[in-house]
Amino acid sequence: MRAIIIGAGILGASTAWHLARSGADVTMFDAAHPGNATAAGAGIACPWVEDDTDAERYRLCMAGARYHREVLAAFSADGADIGFAPVGALVLSEDQERLAKLESRLTGHLGDAPEIGALTRVSPAEARDLFPPLRDGLHGLRIGGGARVDGRLLAATLLRAAIAAGAVVRRDSASLRREGERIVCVDGDGAILEAGEIIVTSGVWAPQLLAPIGVAHPVTLRRGQITHLGLGGVDTRNWPVVLPLNSHYFVPFDDSRIVVGATFEAEVGFDYRVTAAGQHEVLSRALAIAPGLADATLIETRIGFRPFGPTDRPILGRVPGVSGLILGNGLAATGLTIGPYCGKLLADLALERESGFDLTPFAPR
Ligand SMILES: Cc1cc2nc3c(=O)[nH]c(=O)nc-3n(C[C@H](O)[C@H](O)[C@H](O)COP(=O)(O)OP(=O)(O)OC[C@H]3O[C@@H](n4cnc5c(N)ncnc54)[C@H](O)[C@@H]3O)c2cc1C
Repeated sequence: MRAIIIGAGILGASTAWHLARSGADVTMFDAAHPGNATAAGAGIACPWVEDDTDAERYRLCMAGARYHREVLAAFSADGADIGFAPVGALVLSEDQERLAKLESRLTGHLGDAPEIGALTRVSPAEARDLFPPLRDGLHGLRIGGGARVDGRLLAATLLRAAIAAGAVVRRDSASLRREGERIVCVDGDGAILEAGEIIVTSGVWAPQLLAPIGVAHPVTLRRGQITHLGLGGVDTRNWPVVLPLNSHYFVPFDDSRIVVGATFEAEVGFDYRVTAAGQHEVLSRALAIAPGLADATLIETRIGFRPFGPTDRPILGRVPGVSGLILGNGLAATGLTIGPYCGKLLADLALERESGFDLTPFAPR
């Protein structure tokens, strides 16, 4: 089977790896647009705390979190670093009742998702032992199975493995054109490439790719500005991901680095800039919770465009009425968590292989 994949973020990289290791002939295009979400993503992999009212979406999130462990196992034999570390997550609040409700909800999911791990209530003093920059007065719920994932590293590792399995990766922009009944891909030099399956994993740029072939794809972006702070010499390797019960968070990485953020901005278009208001919001929210970060070094602020579909559900499946065209998009704010698994599902679809996961609720309309 010959497949063309357009977009090498976490979703495309995973799709390419799964297809190539199954023997498919894969060509991947990536234009490296500024704002690629995977390169900016914070890296929280703890989807169980999310709203669970949409059972289908929650089912996908649970499967996605579980699948990281399988990817880890697949790469551990050759010692490749996939940037995944199950360091646990610490949910914080001044309101102990909110934490009790969350604990009870998560306990209810343990049967289906034992990877949530041990749930432990911690006092403000214990919370500061786990994450020393915190202010006092915040109670915590520690979620043993929470993890962090370095999106850049994971996507690069998956891509390298895809190439090792025979995939061709082209740093080029692709476009799509109708040729009679079929859709073909056109490279940056105007050469036409055909494939049994064209898989669009182009994030927020997918609508402009699909418009010329008459496929409406209502994906919009939410800009995130996210800041990397350095705590020179401090060993942050085993610090947990910290989730105050608001939209801002802390993700510690191995190299004395704490990622804090992020803004969540609609209606800004493809505006790839760090703004004064964005930087202010990120730092003031971070320091209000963790004043111990005040003296950290500001290393960089990244900008990423999260792809959002018309509903909270990702879009995964074949485009109705168009032969050989598969879409994966709308991973929104959880793409680093579910992207590797969604890539497997897209690969199974292209290979017409039973995945054991019903994609019907996620089908493009
Ligand atoms: C600030 C921020 C924080 C986040 N935090 C988290 C988190 O903590 N946990 C979590 O799970 N998720 C998080 N996310 C969400 C996650 O990063 C995204 O959902 C995910 O990365 C989307 O991946 P993708 O592969 O669909 O798209 P992208 O990573 O955006 O990749 C799309 C790629 O397609 C390429 N492309 C587009 N059009 C073309 C074309 N015509 N030709 C060739 N190439 C093309 C682009 O150049 C790009 O490289 C965060 C996102 C942001 C921005």
